[in-house]
Amino acid sequence: MSNCAIVGINWGDEGKGRMVDLLCADYDVVVRYQGGGNAGHTVINEYGKFALHLLPSGIFHKDVVSVIGNGVAVDPESLMQEIAYVREKGIKLTPANLRISSRASLLLPWHKELDCLEEQRLADKKFGSTKQGIAPFYSDKYQKKTVLAGEILDEEAFFNHLLPIMEWKNLTLEKVYGAQPTALEDLKAWYNEYCLKLMPFIGDLDGFYDDAQEAEKDILFEAQLGALRDIDYGIHPYTTSSSTIAAYAPIGAGCPSLKLDRVIGVAKAYSTCVGEGPFTAEWFGEEAEQLREAGGEYGAKTGRPRRVGPFDVVATRYGVKKQGATELALTKLDVLSYLETIPVCAKYRVKGSLTDRFPFPSQLDAAEPVIEELPGWGCDISHIRRFEDLPQAAQDYVLYIEKQVGCYIKYVSVGPERDSIIIR
Ligand code: GDP
Repeated sequence: MSNCAIVGINWGDEGKGRMVDLLCADYDVVVRYQGGGNAGHTVINEYGKFALHLLPSGIFHKDVVSVIGNGVAVDPESLMQEIAYVREKGIKLTPANLRISSRASLLLPWHKELDCLEEQRLADKKFGSTKQGIAPFYSDKYQKKTVLAGEILDEEAFFNHLLPIMEWKNLTLEKVYGAQPTALEDLKAWYNEYCLKLMPFIGDLDGFYDDAQEAEKDILFEAQLGALRDIDYGIHPYTTSSSTIAAYAPIGAGCPSLKLDRVIGVAKAYSTCVGEGPFTAEWFGEEAEQLREAGGEYGAKTGRPRRVGPFDVVATRYGVKKQGATELALTKLDVLSYLETIPVCAKYRVKGSLTDRFPFPSQLDAAEPVIEELPGWGCDISHIRRFEDLPQAAQDYVLYIEKQVGCYIKYVSVGPERDSIIIR
């Protein structure tokens, strides 16, 4: 039995989806353990191109069981729409290959609305939320003001639990934001339209994990976002509301005593960031536009342009440490082929002093990037499949990053397709 987590080292969008899609053929179970429909994992394979939001990237492999763990924000509406979307493309999803933990909390109809209302209220101070209701959901989860997926199975008890929550939430909608309250008939329609259809997939995962462990099945944990967006270790307050860290994987998956054997950290060969907050090595203008175009850096969920910049050694080393990465996958190396020399943010200067330690969040605004230039390779590398066949400058770039961040780079991705990968 071997358990592995695939996690983001940076701000998210590192290419975790393509790595899970590549590696999950070697695993029996693939689990999403945190976050929700705000994820946008892009996977390109023989079925086409997909942007997955809530479904684990294991769904494309017929012998893999995909699991949505208790740490995930399960939005019945988005999930049923996503299930319909992948079924249309010929993917078989049944309760035998997709399981949702009965202990997962439900993202309720007002969470998305409250997310939008709060971003509107914040106006130019907004967080840059994807407006999928994630922050209101997790706030309510920890206030114990939501319901568990397993409660769907008993309609009467479900509504007995949910109605007082709806009344409480309506106070916020009406009195804080001056918005329309949720009507009971809308809640019933939501239950009938989405929750009932979700019912066959929901179950207790205890027995499932016990059997999996007994049968020595291999489990892959799929994270959303990256270390710098973690609720505890990220750039507060510009984080997501859940734990994106590998150490949380067994807890959010529903098997808290399980030990991870491998943690594959996914890092991009340059930096990108969605949303607000400090982004020390950010590029602007023409330089940014070229990199954004070369990398197709537009949000998978929102389509909005991502902020871009050179590889950030300081932030990546921090992410590697927090994730406890045993190895790295460096993605999108091919995107840098257009550059004559490749700038890298090697250190930060904070109030006149050089540092290679990632600063405390409130000190990040004062950090300036210290840039080093590395030679570029200036040719297409997307067809290359062996490390030794890469141009020397590309090999040196990978080895430089490996040395600086202190973690072995096992995978180098040179294209979005499943087989565009160099395994060292
Ligand atoms: P995730 O959320 O971490 O799975 O990442 P995203 O799916 O948001 O972003 C990664 C994007 O880069 C997707 O569009 C992928 O198809 C694409 N991608 C992944 N790896 C590579 C690569 O090595 N080269 C290129 N050119 N694109 C890649």
